[in-house]
Amino acid sequence: MVKNSNYVAVDIGATNIRVALGDERRIIVKRSEATDRLNGPEGVPRQIARMIRSLGAEPAAIGVGSIGPLDTKQGAIGETPNFAFKHIPIVSPLKGEFDVPVRIMNDCNAAVIGEHLYGAGRGLDNLFYVTLSTGLGGGAIVDGNPLKGKDGNAPEIGHLTLDPDSELVCGCGCHGHWEAYCSGANLPNYARILLRNRDLGGGLLLKMVGGDLGKLTSEMIFEAAKKRDRDAVFVVEEVGKANAVGFANIVNAFDPELITVGGSVALNNPEMVVGPIRNGIDRHLINRRPEIMMTPLGADVVLYGGLAIAMKLV
Ligand SMILES: [Zn+2]
Repeated sequence: MVKNSNYVAVDIGATNIRVALGDERRIIVKRSEATDRLNGPEGVPRQIARMIRSLGAEPAAIGVGSIGPLDTKQGAIGETPNFAFKHIPIVSPLKGEFDVPVRIMNDCNAAVIGEHLYGAGRGLDNLFYVTLSTGLGGGAIVDGNPLKGKDGNAPEIGHLTLDPDSELVCGCGCHGHWEAYCSGANLPNYARILLRNRDLGGGLLLKMVGGDLGKLTSEMIFEAAKKRDRDAVFVVEEVGKANAVGFANIVNAFDPELITVGGSVALNNPEMVVGPIRNGIDRHLINRRPEIMMTPLGADVVLYGGLAIAMKLV
């Protein structure tokens, strides 16, 4: 019997759902749709099943990388602030639909597994992946094994505390978490604090927001910094300092050989994100500095993780 190697990957995001068909070497075909947020908890797995069928092949196994927090024992997305409904079952509806093994993992944990099998982490035993996106998260391979934690949500690096006395409040309610400074959604809050006592007259940022810093977005900040606007450059440098502390915390805790970086904020601004981390990290390190680079898998890193997860199920 010929072994069926139609591995299927699913990347569940708050904004988009992506599915792919692939083999041991690459993604063969992929699809993306806006996430169904209107049809209750059953709408999401129904949408995924339809998208998988549109790939045109019988899956051998399905690996899912998803926004969290997850309930991995139930194979479901748990109580997430990203949906109006709680507890979205994923594994059992897909198993019922396709009658193949299905496994779900937190998206960043999936991503680092993808990096390990398909990307820059091949052959490495200690590897870390960081996503700088709407949120900020990470995944780790430790001594050759994916780090999962008791509920499958380790390591939540976005919620490492940089300053407990900070006035910045994280989406989780805590003060001074790394994500509250540097994620795409929160970066404008940090920028407003940084710019509070600066004279912005004549600068590009104030022009872009029509005089109202409440309208500032992280895209505007990076766009203005690319045009060398001095206030935006200042913000990008300060954000880079906070990221350097966060990356140093990872190195000191996990001692990886390599850290790869992905997520929309980093993928759209690779030099402005990774440059300041490389320049600022050394003064916070006790462990030997690892290589730090953008993921070569780009925006597909979670899909590659899904393929790698599916492959291990067969
Ligand atoms: Zn937090």
